[in-house]
Amino acid sequence: MSEILKGKRGLVMGVANDRSIAWGIARALHAAGAELAFTYQGDAFGKRLAPLAASVGSDFMVDVDVTDDDSLDKAFADLAVRWPSIDFVVHAIAFSDKSELTGRILDTSRANFRNSLDISCYSFIEVARRAHPLMVEGGGTMITLTYEGSQRVVPNYNVMGVAKAALESATRYLANDLGRDRIRVNAISPGPMKTLAGAAIGGARKTYKHTDMNAPLRANATLEAVGGTAVYLVSDHGACTTGEIIHVDGGFHVLGMPQYENL
Ligand code: NAD
Repeated sequence: MSEILKGKRGLVMGVANDRSIAWGIARALHAAGAELAFTYQGDAFGKRLAPLAASVGSDFMVDVDVTDDDSLDKAFADLAVRWPSIDFVVHAIAFSDKSELTGRILDTSRANFRNSLDISCYSFIEVARRAHPLMVEGGGTMITLTYEGSQRVVPNYNVMGVAKAALESATRYLANDLGRDRIRVNAISPGPMKTLAGAAIGGARKTYKHTDMNAPLRANATLEAVGGTAVYLVSDHGACTTGEIIHVDGGFHVLGMPQYENL
């Protein structure tokens, strides 16, 4: 890949390991010439992140729990000391209690609903508010990660589908707020991927197989494909794209029914 992001720098939030979507994005941004900083959630993930960050030439890592405003404040204060401005932020963060990512949405508890929406949707607004001042002069790009379970019912996705619908709406509202400062806000919507968060959803293997067998491209999303989409969005090629939900799912979202050959 040519270095179309040379001179650009930004923050990637949500690398848990080398299968994380955030890691696929980080690798692609780095290959395109971008400089990277990272956040991680707690010491155990920090230990896994350190060698990955080093492999893409980054020594900037800060511990952030997105439910903790102080840790967010500290991360962005540290970032502002290192870099007076940034060009992008990637928010690849979601959580719901595993016990409610199976069965019926009817059984969702108030506590898990609040926590899931807080971590998986509201945190993007908190991140955007803090990243905004670092982008005001040169413009920038904010990217979050969503899934088609926001629009259509996917078995077991339950409260996370509601959280992703809210996140997609927040993406559009943020795009409108920040557009006047030449900041673009978009969501990438990959098909099911084999990650820690993905494995927590009941029946994940079936969803993965079903997408692979039925998507127009007869393929699931890859870290490389999601990373390439992020490069496009951060680059000047994406200069007029904002408020968008970009599917990277082999085309699965266009289907109305399973393929005949699978019936
Ligand atoms: P992952 O488990 O690798 O990443 C999830 C990340 O969220 C982890 O790094 C975790 O530390 C972080 N996180 C959770 N709670 C947090 C908190 N309170 N504070 C800070 N960080 C927290 O899984 P992933 O699949 O790469 O998930 C990244 C994003 O992609 C999520 O938004 C997920 O919903 C979305 N997504 C995943 C799939 C899939 O099938 N895996 C498909 C579409 C969208």
